[in-house]
Amino acid sequence: MTEILSVSKVRQAEALGKNVLIRGWVRTKRDSKGFSFLELNDGSSFGNIQVIAQENLENYETEVKKLTAGSSIAVWGTVEKSPGAKQPTEVHATKIEIYGFAPDTYPLQKKRHTLEFLRTISHLRPRTNTFGAVARVRNRICASIHQFFQEEGFYYIHTPIITASDCEGAGEMFQVTTLNLQNLPLTDKGEPDYAQDFFGKPSFLTVSGQLAVENFACALGKVYTFGPTFRAENSNTSRHLAEFWMVEPEMAFFELPENMELVERFLKRIIGDVLRDCPEDMAFFNDHMDSEKTLVARLTKIVESTFQKCSYTQAISILEKADREFQFPVKWGIDLQSEHERYLTEVHFNGPVIVYDYPKDIKAFYMRLNDDGKTVRAMDVLVPGVGEIVGGSEREYRPEVLENRMLEMGLNPADYWWYLDLRRFGTVPHSGFGLGLERMVMLITSVQNIRDVIPFPRTPGSADF
Ligand code: ATP
Ligand code: MN
Repeated sequence: MTEILSVSKVRQAEALGKNVLIRGWVRTKRDSKGFSFLELNDGSSFGNIQVIAQENLENYETEVKKLTAGSSIAVWGTVEKSPGAKQPTEVHATKIEIYGFAPDTYPLQKKRHTLEFLRTISHLRPRTNTFGAVARVRNRICASIHQFFQEEGFYYIHTPIITASDCEGAGEMFQVTTLNLQNLPLTDKGEPDYAQDFFGKPSFLTVSGQLAVENFACALGKVYTFGPTFRAENSNTSRHLAEFWMVEPEMAFFELPENMELVERFLKRIIGDVLRDCPEDMAFFNDHMDSEKTLVARLTKIVESTFQKCSYTQAISILEKADREFQFPVKWGIDLQSEHERYLTEVHFNGPVIVYDYPKDIKAFYMRLNDDGKTVRAMDVLVPGVGEIVGGSEREYRPEVLENRMLEMGLNPADYWWYLDLRRFGTVPHSGFGLGLERMVMLITSVQNIRDVIPFPRTPGSADF
């Protein structure tokens, strides 16, 4: 009997002696006298399976010998013990069928390619070691996110992608319209006539599902939303995308300390799951992506240690005492820049740190005002190598205070009537946070550019593939 097995399964000692059918893409071929070695990969694991093709195969001279990197094939054969120390098994082919040859114009010939070059062939880069590993780890992280919240009694809520409310009140949104831009209908005042637009008013791609998911937290208790979010911020950095994925839990009755406790357990759980379930991919990142080759050790330390906590005011005083010049001068009230965040987490605390109680003027209107009247119950999680990975807060649940904050920040409370209703009818303390999925993948893989941890990156001036 022939079993159809993945490369990952065929590489295990349990497969020894089986008759199998495996299918995948040739990574390399090496010819010897009377036979050829093929390295076959199907994406199911980092490592390849070695296939031995003898010259007695019917199509050996006509096809097998012509196989090149990138060709797709099916191999029937038996799983045998491999004499090589690297892997326990190899497959001795009894039949090879070719789905498709790849001519030598295939861009992924056996040599090292830069990540920048691979970005120009984003459609083929999943077939490289690096991107295969990134895709598997990213998948494991997402599974972990759902497992964690499901086990903790959270409900998964699907918040809308198209929205007519700007969550941060900060602009930076992509507008969605069906108005004819070649011939824009105008009002008497000369402005676009949104009454004729699809929704009868301006609409946008969401920057966050938070406002929507808060409504469900204040009914179902513990909820989370997890989906794509969009920011038209023109920041061409290695940590910002125009389209990225965010997971946003929201918990009724949680105050800031419980929010912090949850985020710490959540991040540790994800890292622990990846270290346990993706050892081969993680060994690759450790040895080939991390300049110090200490990635696994650092992540293990994060799982085993307690996150440091420090108020924004304390953080400013640490930065003021730092023995270095920052490009952006430090004083109470500034928004922490990446260089500040990285000093705190990489130099001062040498590990993850949760910074809390930020000045109200640099944070969103919905964060709970502290009794000092100057700071809000915000918390950002900063991690080495990445900087901010999570932003969260306790939400303002007192209707008058919330309305005042909106007015202070130039927002029209009438636009948020439904959000204010939550506070008018049975208001409760509640909290939540947002984790940028890609920043988490960067932390776990040591990949330095956010464009290389998402399948098809969208950044200013670039939306290819
Ligand atoms: P930053 O200061 O790094 O721009 P932010 O303060 O704008 O982040 P939030 O609005 O708090 O971020 O969003 C929550 C999380 O979403 C961030 O902690 C980060 O992990 C992620 N995130 C925010 N903006 C982006 C982006 N443009 N690309 C990728 N991830 C992002
Ligand atoms: Mn931002």
